[in-house]
Amino acid sequence: METNKLFYADCRLAQFSAVVVDCAETKQGFEVELDQTAFYPEGGGQAADRGTLNGIEVLHVHEDGERVLHRLAQPLAVGEAAAGVVDYAHRFDLMQQHTGEHIVSGIINKRYGWHNVGFHMGVQSITIDFDGIIPPEDLPELERLANEAIYRNIPLHIWTPSPEELPDVAYRTKRALPWPVRIVQVPGFDSCACCGIHVERTGEIGLIKLFSCVRFRSGSRIEMLCGRRCFDFLSRSHEQNKLVSAAFSAKLLETGEAAAKMNELLESQKHRIGQLETQIFAARAGRCAGRGDSLLLCEGLDSVGVRKLADLTAESCGGTAAVFSENTDGSFSYCLIRRDGDLRSFNKEMTATLQGRGGGKPECQMGSVRSDRESILKHFVSFYIPE
Ligand SMILES: [Zn+2]
Repeated sequence: METNKLFYADCRLAQFSAVVVDCAETKQGFEVELDQTAFYPEGGGQAADRGTLNGIEVLHVHEDGERVLHRLAQPLAVGEAAAGVVDYAHRFDLMQQHTGEHIVSGIINKRYGWHNVGFHMGVQSITIDFDGIIPPEDLPELERLANEAIYRNIPLHIWTPSPEELPDVAYRTKRALPWPVRIVQVPGFDSCACCGIHVERTGEIGLIKLFSCVRFRSGSRIEMLCGRRCFDFLSRSHEQNKLVSAAFSAKLLETGEAAAKMNELLESQKHRIGQLETQIFAARAGRCAGRGDSLLLCEGLDSVGVRKLADLTAESCGGTAAVFSENTDGSFSYCLIRRDGDLRSFNKEMTATLQGRGGGKPECQMGSVRSDRESILKHFVSFYIPE
């Protein structure tokens, strides 16, 4: 039998009483049908309501033809009275997001002619997909217009036109719809066929923020948030900016500039460190000149540095260069290089002795070992050790 959908008559109704009409056990739980309900079932891009029936959590709400089914982990007896409580904070959030999405879709449809072809309400944010390109630089203007709709606190007009009226009603739709069609209008901003639940006046949305606009398939995807969830996100974002502001001793609206300057400084320092490292490496390698097989023990070099020093040392010593650098965890990174040589079996034997792993080209073997300094010195006893 058709469930009486109380949410269409009163979107604020959070508590109601009903009678259990049917209760069927399925793999997922018990599907409870009531004579009437304030629980909105999943549909039209809007998620299902949450809440309880006789104190039992409602796990999901969906439609089966004209019936609304409430999924519970426990059964309810047919004929039993059911007290329903809808989680109104959750519902109101969905209403804020949904009406906000209509306003943004309406503005974009009017301006570019693009249609909303996908709507997803995620936990973090909501996304809308459009079937055409929206220039990302237009985002601030689109956002300004959407918030203008909120400031005007426009009452929504939601109705089902008669079959005679319907042909004269202009509305956004993905395809031609048969009567009856429920029309949701935000006068001046949007008119759309929709079965979802909306706020009564646009002012209830509170805030619309468009975060990004990226190319998606052959069109665009806009990421946005509305209402309290948007306010909470922006508050958290502000807390982060306060930390950045304190770290950089920069004003709240100048943290981006301060971060860019810091990056520039880091880049020039990195460049300078690279120059100094090259000088030090050249000096160290130079001391091995003509000495044949050489072992160098260092600390704190990254793999690029280890390789660079080994390269210069091999060039200078004329034999095998073995560079080991101690890492903070006590292990050593290493690089073995011998010009035109084949160090593969040498490396294999060494890693077996020094508990390591490594490989590479025949003339250049790299890796790491877990043995300590003394074991490395012992293994390379025949190598010349400068310093
Ligand atoms: Zn809708």
